Amino acid sequence: MVVPHPTTNRARSSVRSGAVTTTGTSLDSTEQAAIDSVPTGLFIGGAWREGTARMPVLDPATGQSLCEVTDAAPEDGLAALSAAAEAQAAWARTPARERSDLLMRAHRMLLDETERLALIMTLEMGKPLAEARGEIAYAAEFFRWFAEEAVRLDGGYMPAPGGGSRFLVTRQPVGPSLLITPWNFPMAMGTRKIGPALAAGCTCVIKPAEQTPLSMLALADILNRAGLPAGVVNVVTTTDPGALMTPMILDPRSRKLSFTGSTAVGKVLLEQCARTVMRTSMELGGNAPFLVFEDADLDEAIEGVMAAKMRNIGQACTAANRILVQRSVAEEFARRLSERMGALPMGRGTEPGVVVGPLIDADAVAKVTELVSDAQRRGSRVVLGGTAFEGPGNFYPATVLVDVPADAEMCHTEIFGPVAALSVFDTEDEAIDRANDTPYGLVSYVYTENLRRGLRVCEALDTGMVGLNQGVVSNPAAPFGGVKESGLGREGGFTGIDEFLETKYIGIKL
Ligand code: NAP
Repeated sequence: MVVPHPTTNRARSSVRSGAVTTTGTSLDSTEQAAIDSVPTGLFIGGAWREGTARMPVLDPATGQSLCEVTDAAPEDGLAALSAAAEAQAAWARTPARERSDLLMRAHRMLLDETERLALIMTLEMGKPLAEARGEIAYAAEFFRWFAEEAVRLDGGYMPAPGGGSRFLVTRQPVGPSLLITPWNFPMAMGTRKIGPALAAGCTCVIKPAEQTPLSMLALADILNRAGLPAGVVNVVTTTDPGALMTPMILDPRSRKLSFTGSTAVGKVLLEQCARTVMRTSMELGGNAPFLVFEDADLDEAIEGVMAAKMRNIGQACTAANRILVQRSVAEEFARRLSERMGALPMGRGTEPGVVVGPLIDADAVAKVTELVSDAQRRGSRVVLGGTAFEGPGNFYPATVLVDVPADAEMCHTEIFGPVAALSVFDTEDEAIDRANDTPYGLVSYVYTENLRRGLRVCEALDTGMVGLNQGVVSNPAAPFGGVKESGLGREGGFTGIDEFLETKYIGIKL
């Protein structure tokens, strides 16, 4: 068993997790320049403005403060909503081709500035630089996809079945939209919402997660430089999301809430939105089953589970949470997975070659630690890792558990860490029943070389997405989203723009 070796730069990590030091003392000159390039105010009505308070942005690899950004008060949020509401009519009238061109310019700038943006993301979120670069490319692609969709909005014209009149059907922007994003994909979750909103003709206010505001502020700066009209996109950052967002959600000028985050917060927001019957899109938590049948190509299944488990250090809604392997191949699969995961270098995401970065914060490490202990108490065995590293930084090693019983807490909640939870099944029906035994329904993965079985199982799984012999489903051109408590609506694909459009029918008497 190989234990991964942390490559955290101790010289930069002398302060323990959670401590806040003077801005930038731990950064090299390139890192400092990247952080200094980000505007740290609120972006409202096309201008950067300060608020009355500041909040620190911490490096999860060291616990040190990278910089401070503005901590918005509720009145700042309402000012942002006012800016979005004032800009709405003109933006809706702006020709689709111009809206599309703006998104295309921003797409190009995101790609051109990848190195700087990836470094900012790694510093504030912890993911390795290679993954951060991948996220910038993924994020940029949402702008290109929706730039292409902006000019293809269609409608309809048909005779009424009873004759005498005609139906004209057109689609219009839903109006000023509130967008709330999580910390785990700080850029892509933003472009996945801003892209279709702008393409549809909606203005917006976006609130990034408290832990990762810099990527969104950098994106606002790019949109601004790309020629964004004042008020079309507004960015507010805060330590108190409930106090900031609730007045905006209850304000009748807001016409849409698009949220990505946990199911628990999503339910609170749905209740708030019910008061004004506001349109919602909810991209919520997951509990993905990863099924490996005995007729699978095991090499591909190992590659697939590495991607589905280790992407983003396991902190993805799409992460393989329950890995179910058919009995005859279970032992070999566990051994090979442990070898692969055990060889992954761990450390600060900026260090060359690092694959396992820090978790987002100390609470995340504590949660993963407790989930692993609970599984052990219930009879599962740790075959790799299993013990958090001492700080500084929020490091938890790649971990593999076998014989994880169905009543283990980690089978019912998102692990959100680099922990592979394996258990064995015997029959196809058992695999399907166990896969569906969860209130979540975001994504599942199936590995089999048998086409009939593959399609049969895909159809039987209660998830919005299935990876059949592939461990990554995210693609801007595909409809991303879940069923059951994993959410409402789809982002990306041909239907992504529909979330920001209302259908209007005009009855015409001839
Ligand atoms: P979270 O705690 O639900 O937070 C998500 C966002 O909601 C953050 O911006 C947060 O602000 C904000 N928020 C929290 N309480 C709020 C309130 N009362 N009113 C308004 N906004 C509020 O989730 P997270 O820990 O950031 O992200 C991880 C979760 O997101 C996981 O469950 C993951 O599965 C899910 N996720 C889903 C998808 C998907 O597409 N389905 C994609 C990525 C992540 P603060 O940061 O200030 O708390």
